Amino acid sequence: MDLLYRSTRDSSVQVTASQAVLKGLSADGGLFVPNTIPALDVELEKLAEMSYQETAYEVMSRFLTDFTEEELKGCIERAYDAKFDTPEIAPLVKADGAYYLELFHGATIAFKDMALSILPHLMTVSARKNQVKNEIVILTATSGDTGKAALAGFADVPGTRIVVFYPKNGVSPIQEKQMVTQKGANVKVIGIHGNFDDAQTGVKKLFGDKALEEEMAAAGFQFSSANSINIGRLIPQIVYYVYAYAKLYANGEIEKNEKINVVVPTGNFGNILAAYYAKQMGLPIEKLICASNENKVLFDFFQTGSYDKNRDFILTSSPSMDILISSNLERLIYRIADSDDRADAAMMKALSENGKYEITPAMREKLGDFYGNFASEQETARTIFDLYDKTGYVIDPHTAVASCVYGKYLKDTGDQTKAVIASTASPYKFTRSVMEALGKSCEGRDDFELADELSGLSGTEIPKAVEEIRTAPVLHDTVVEISEMKNAVKKFLGM
Ligand SMILES: *Cc1c(COP(=O)(O)O)cnc(C)c1O
Repeated sequence: MDLLYRSTRDSSVQVTASQAVLKGLSADGGLFVPNTIPALDVELEKLAEMSYQETAYEVMSRFLTDFTEEELKGCIERAYDAKFDTPEIAPLVKADGAYYLELFHGATIAFKDMALSILPHLMTVSARKNQVKNEIVILTATSGDTGKAALAGFADVPGTRIVVFYPKNGVSPIQEKQMVTQKGANVKVIGIHGNFDDAQTGVKKLFGDKALEEEMAAAGFQFSSANSINIGRLIPQIVYYVYAYAKLYANGEIEKNEKINVVVPTGNFGNILAAYYAKQMGLPIEKLICASNENKVLFDFFQTGSYDKNRDFILTSSPSMDILISSNLERLIYRIADSDDRADAAMMKALSENGKYEITPAMREKLGDFYGNFASEQETARTIFDLYDKTGYVIDPHTAVASCVYGKYLKDTGDQTKAVIASTASPYKFTRSVMEALGKSCEGRDDFELADELSGLSGTEIPKAVEEIRTAPVLHDTVVEISEMKNAVKKFLGM
């Protein structure tokens, strides 16, 4: 029997895994969740001997039950290959008593690669399964990071095209360079005269444009989204927690069935939700430690049971966590509401209308798996400095938020359970903030110069992703008005 997925806002909507991957979001606005969380029914001894790819198959096959073994293994092989700069894919590094799970060895040196390198393949297989003959056109608006990871994932994947819109003056020079140098016959990067919200709104409009949908279908195309709420991004993220646990056991760092804690620098709540699902599958995880930056909406939520986005948006040195609406939290809400779709829908309506909602005392009691805290900008920089000073290991600001919060957790609880900290970006992706935190003078020096110095002092090689854009030619120079977004897409598709 296939594992089906239902909408968090209407339990009667039930789809297969491949349909959920294709749709992304349910038509009622809800997120797809599996009807049950499958058990991790593989012996630890076996997992301990598996490669990342083999582990990925064991975990993902339990969720994507309408994929054949051959299909899923094909997706995994195409995703986790030499695009990653280490055969381990997600190595563990021990520093100052904790285990850093490095999720940044893919094409864009941040953890989004872990899922976005497989999503395109899951999507094309899903299309085939559901007799979709059209070419899939991914439309994305980006404030920097997701766009590049999606481009790298979809580049030259047969049966797909991808168009990324970004605010022409709203991303960092390195981020822009990363995108406009993207190779691939099926990719298009377009700057817009406007900010990120304009780009996002414009993309949403295109998704909802019925006339365009018909024109596209006639020409053999249909839109899809690589958004982080797609289960095709969530499920691949469960894999590395299982892999990390098995490696800790294989290396003699933990006993069989010994519990571990997991610390996750959190924005949209996708990464930590994957850890929660790993726990529900039976992986021995004790606490899920949710680390926020100064946009500490989640910390306040865990403290009070009230989610309130009515507050100032703060720009921090960990921009991928500068988020006030953590979309994936809805999946946890649904679960702690005992799968009550009406209660979930009512809270999400309150969120969209008033920017806040409150959970019931009964729901709060089910949050015992979680601990939340946050790190200020100063604390984050201090953490980077202290860890380097003590061990020589350099971490990026997102990871530093997690590391700092883990320190607070230890102070609060004295809990000696071993901990895995999700390390979500290479320090080379945020070279300037990292070098400033390390007390180096950065004024008047460009990011490549700083990367050279970082390489010297950390004793690590500059990643290919940074080396490449130093000299790469610009391949995309289209910039359009907001009102021209639709025509730009049609032009790219030859319509
Ligand atoms: C996206 C991102 C995060 C936040 O992950 P969520 O799944 O959105 O919680 C943390 N760190 C980095 C570097 C990211 O790119």
